[in-house]
Amino acid sequence: MAGLETYRAKRDFGITAEPRGRVARSKAKALRFVIQRHAATRLHYDFRLELDGVYKSWAVTKVPSLDPATKRLAVEVEDHPLDYGTFEGTIPQGQYGGGTVQLWDNGTWAPQSDDPRGDLAKGQLKIVLHGKRMHGRWALIRLRDDKTKLGRKVRHNWLLIKEKDEFALPGEADALLAADTSVKSGRTMEEIASSKKSKVWHSSRKKGARPDEDELSAEPAAIVKKKIHPSHATTVRARTARKH
Ligand code: MN
Repeated sequence: MAGLETYRAKRDFGITAEPRGRVARSKAKALRFVIQRHAATRLHYDFRLELDGVYKSWAVTKVPSLDPATKRLAVEVEDHPLDYGTFEGTIPQGQYGGGTVQLWDNGTWAPQSDDPRGDLAKGQLKIVLHGKRMHGRWALIRLRDDKTKLGRKVRHNWLLIKEKDEFALPGEADALLAADTSVKSGRTMEEIASSKKSKVWHSSRKKGARPDEDELSAEPAAIVKKKIHPSHATTVRARTARKH
């Protein structure tokens, strides 16, 4: 279900400049995607795909890899409003996800199948990206949920994988690290962080807010070691095998 309740519950819009947002009705034919580089507790890349009037969202723990052999962990997070897709600036410290946000890539995307909702539900979404930095075919593959963490909300972990095509760069997993400016403003993270426009004074913290905690604060190393769900393993193995 597409909804923004979780997104809104985590934020105090009297303090942060992030949009409150709404579930949009689709006007444009092409679906948008955006990646926001986010220097929160950990630097990560928030990957967002427009679907059903919201951005389906994942926090990717490292720069997206152009090497099909290098899979990146993508932690599923709450749906975000489409208004969020143009947000660049600084979320105040103490607020959810406090830190600098840079528009790192944007453009349009298309599903490889005619059933992206079904693909999402199955945990195997294959897409084509038409961005400024990310192009061609990519796959999002969901890992098996970790049910050992009792008492914690289960987070769905996925892998973001570049598929083999003319845009793949085998052996160059970190090629996109060189892309460190905003596709919107041309600014580096430091320039965004030091911008007067980005500075937001706040004198009080929202009651119950958890300072300095964001979606990537917990045990990323443990997550990476998780096994791929058996129903997905064949796909991943097959893809891996083709490379050698
Ligand atoms: Mn984030």
